[in-house]
Amino acid sequence: MGRNLGYGGASPRVPGSVVIDLGRKMNKVLNIDGENASCMVEPGVSYFKLYEEIQKTGLKLWIDTPDLGGGSVLGNAIDRGVGYTPYGDHFANHCGMEIVLPDGSLLRTGMGALPGKDGADNPTWESFQHAYGPAVDGIFSQSNFGIVTKMGFWLMPETGHQSYMITFPRDNDFEQIVEIIRPLAQRGILGNIPQLRHAIQELAVTGKPRTTWYNGPGHFPRDVIREGVKQLPVGDVSWIFYGTQYGDTASISSQLSLIKSAFAAIPGSKFLLPSDLPPDHYIHSRVQVCSGVPVLRELDWLNWKPNAAHLFFSPIVPTRGSSARVIHDIITRLHAKYDFDVFPTLCVAGREMHYIANIVYDRSSEDEKRRARELMREMIDEAAREGFGEYRTHLLFADQVAGTYSWGGGALRRFNETLKDALDPNGILAPGRSGIWPKGYRGKGWELVGEKAKGCVTARM
Ligand SMILES: Cc1cc2nc3c(=O)[nH]c(=O)nc-3n(C[C@H](O)[C@H](O)[C@H](O)COP(=O)(O)OP(=O)(O)OC[C@H]3O[C@@H](n4cnc5c(N)ncnc54)[C@H](O)[C@@H]3O)c2cc1C
Repeated sequence: MGRNLGYGGASPRVPGSVVIDLGRKMNKVLNIDGENASCMVEPGVSYFKLYEEIQKTGLKLWIDTPDLGGGSVLGNAIDRGVGYTPYGDHFANHCGMEIVLPDGSLLRTGMGALPGKDGADNPTWESFQHAYGPAVDGIFSQSNFGIVTKMGFWLMPETGHQSYMITFPRDNDFEQIVEIIRPLAQRGILGNIPQLRHAIQELAVTGKPRTTWYNGPGHFPRDVIREGVKQLPVGDVSWIFYGTQYGDTASISSQLSLIKSAFAAIPGSKFLLPSDLPPDHYIHSRVQVCSGVPVLRELDWLNWKPNAAHLFFSPIVPTRGSSARVIHDIITRLHAKYDFDVFPTLCVAGREMHYIANIVYDRSSEDEKRRARELMREMIDEAAREGFGEYRTHLLFADQVAGTYSWGGGALRRFNETLKDALDPNGILAPGRSGIWPKGYRGKGWELVGEKAKGCVTARM
């Protein structure tokens, strides 16, 4: 659907390419299976559409949506996007694909490769992810090896849910918060992938411009954040943890008592339920997202600046307080160097966390765009030196990010190139996507690791 906002939208990497708009007409929900709790969709099915189609059936099934519900269920999963119910790893919860390969032939993966009775689709296509032999689905995610035209997904049976937030008073509580999350997540006590946000996000998600609080030069000062949040219902806090628990009332209450007592180790932490907060507070939007209802509220923080656009910097970091501190310091220091406000959102799992830094810039300002690009490039390199790599990136930075995955003299890149040349010898599909260039392009100046590359005189964003 081309709504990969912050990660490159619908743009092709090579000028003159033909963009295939699968969102407009291939927009059917092909199957909703109430017994199997699964569905099969075409690329143009948005989270809103899938949600509405399921509502029409009356089946008690949830979808899993990212923070913005306007994108494609299939496109998001192919880019290995995330959501916030227990089914939040979208690619992990897909089951079965149909793909058009660069030579025009069709491939079905998983059990779909085995024909069903009398020419029907295989009855377990949406039930079991693998066929016999190598598991190939993964090579069609974040790649340019084929066009996915159908994809199956598991749906979560409706259940009880309780969202909550826990606030922490000091910036330096950060490491301890991460240390407390790790065992709770590994032991399966946390219900979903929770988000940890800095207090500045509380100001931004009100949808008010930054000038409401600050008109001065430079990036948003820490004491102005403090004064701003003091006026909000959360009060003078530094970090905010948004979580949701699932199940029946008794299990939710026993999970919550474990969670509360674990975080009580941090002096001054406060536990709040949605009912403790006014109806316009952002937590009510999280309640919806975390129970599979698509919304658009998250876009409000783009009112921060006039003509705002944004880039996401999203490294994968171990769930350890010390590592969290290293990446947070890199991001904070470099945002200050390039004069941008820092918006940290951490999606914290038991063993790793996605640190999502949102760079909000004024797209009418060439100077801001240049600084945003330079900031991204420097963060990618510094993070990589610590062993932290991006899970996903804007196409402007694809070559640089792919280059950081350099173990074994670039063994992974060479392997991807071998696959590309075998499947797409003429290099017709999305050359350069995810830093994978077909042989006809390699070494001819197409790779974009700075401001200039062939066919891309000024990097566009
Ligand atoms: C405020 C805000 C919050 C966001 N929150 C989240 C979040 O919580 N989680 C998250 O994951 N994202 C988030 N995003 C990023 C983005 O908006 C979503 O991921 C969105 O769902 C992606 O849009 P799309 O599905 O239309 O992507 P598309 O642009 O359609 O697809 C993404 C990429 O996948 C490839 N692709 C798409 N379809 C196919 C196909 N059929 N075959 C082969 N390749 C294909 C293309 O290369 C394309 O560039 C957020 C963005 C913003 C602005």
